[in-house]
Amino acid sequence: MDEAGRLSYAEVTGWVRRFAAVVAGNRTYLTDLDSAIGDADHGANLDRGLQAALARIEALEGEDVTAALRAAGSALISTVGGASGPLYGSLFLQFGAAAAGHDWYGLIEWAAGLDAGIAAIVRLGKAGPGDKTMLDALLPARDAIAVALASGAQPAAAVRAAAEAAEDGMRATIPLVARRGRASYLGERSAGHQDPGATSAAMLIRAAADVWVAGGQG
Ligand code: ADP
Ligand code: MG
Repeated sequence: MDEAGRLSYAEVTGWVRRFAAVVAGNRTYLTDLDSAIGDADHGANLDRGLQAALARIEALEGEDVTAALRAAGSALISTVGGASGPLYGSLFLQFGAAAAGHDWYGLIEWAAGLDAGIAAIVRLGKAGPGDKTMLDALLPARDAIAVALASGAQPAAAVRAAAEAAEDGMRATIPLVARRGRASYLGERSAGHQDPGATSAAMLIRAAADVWVAGGQG
């Protein structure tokens, strides 16, 4: 990380590696969550997609953050069969586009990527707040970043606040009735279970916070 609190190329790809490692370690947990209200494949889906994403990143030359995150996004889109693949893939494509081809990634750019990624997820999946989806972790994260940036917080503190907001949002999906995705087929019976996609989305934001904090801006 540089003095301005911007992640290096190695730290950005470290973020994807860390997310992949956390998902791999929680593969069974995510699949168990999905077995309660879906088809028991979320952990396996995301693990497979992220391993493919890492392989694509490894094959790249140079230190173009946009190229790396776009490679991750297209790997997710092409290797994950479930609903979450295109949605996470689109999120990563937008995280990539926001990096504008630099070999670094600042919090302003990252926050813009999150914002554009959320817009892409909404466009594709037509879900909104409270529908018991990954958006219920991502939207509070985005709002927390905006508040932290407006109050002049350091990047690491801002992303940490986002991770906490995402985890609160994840837990808040438990009582919700699903209105989008497979879980919505269960209607009222979807209540009482934490949404798997909101859980993995909170892991994604937490992984970013860990990378920023480890970079020394915590
Ligand atoms: P599938 O539901 O096709 O089996 P996964 O199990 O991999 O796909 O992912 C399920 C997760 O995807 C859900 O927990 C939810 O968070 C997310 N999801 C599903 N549909 C939507 C949607 N329309 N908008 C946003 N997120 C969605
Ligand atoms: Mg599933």
